[in-house]
Amino acid sequence: MTDLKPYEYYLWSPKREEYEANEIPDDINCIFCSQAEDDERISKLEIYEDDFLMVELNIFPYNTGHLMVVPKRHLNSLTELEDEERDRLFSMVAKVEELQREVVDPAGIDVGLNIGEAAGESIQHLHVQLVPIYGHDRGFMETSLDTKVMKKSLPDMQEEYKDNVEILEGYWE
Ligand SMILES: [Zn+2]
Repeated sequence: MTDLKPYEYYLWSPKREEYEANEIPDDINCIFCSQAEDDERISKLEIYEDDFLMVELNIFPYNTGHLMVVPKRHLNSLTELEDEERDRLFSMVAKVEELQREVVDPAGIDVGLNIGEAAGESIQHLHVQLVPIYGHDRGFMETSLDTKVMKKSLPDMQEEYKDNVEILEGYWE
């Protein structure tokens, strides 16, 4: 993910963003574990969820349609996954690629894992990020003002992905 990074500011071009992330209470140690336990104090823009994993929008997207695949169990290394869990995780990653190709039609997709804080991981719980890349992604706002122009709001993006959730279903039979 060479030049992909969280932006300091966002400009939501379609309409004013109606989504507000909650504050994170002090007693929450891991945001993904809290989401997995359905702690209502933590926002989650989920697309799909089952007993093993969650697929959700990143609320601080690097680009429009940025999704994450998160195993629910707290772990922070690929080596901690059982063989079947690893197969299952990457089977879903492939389905998410398919979902993004269908819904946002990107020119490419940056698929990444950051393991450990030194590698830029902000939540120390294993997750795979899929960032759609479009043609002409970096304009003046991005390069000079550290501001990302987002083509769609998070709730709109969530709705469009959820309308196509059947692509993700049956990823593991
Ligand atoms: Zn966790």
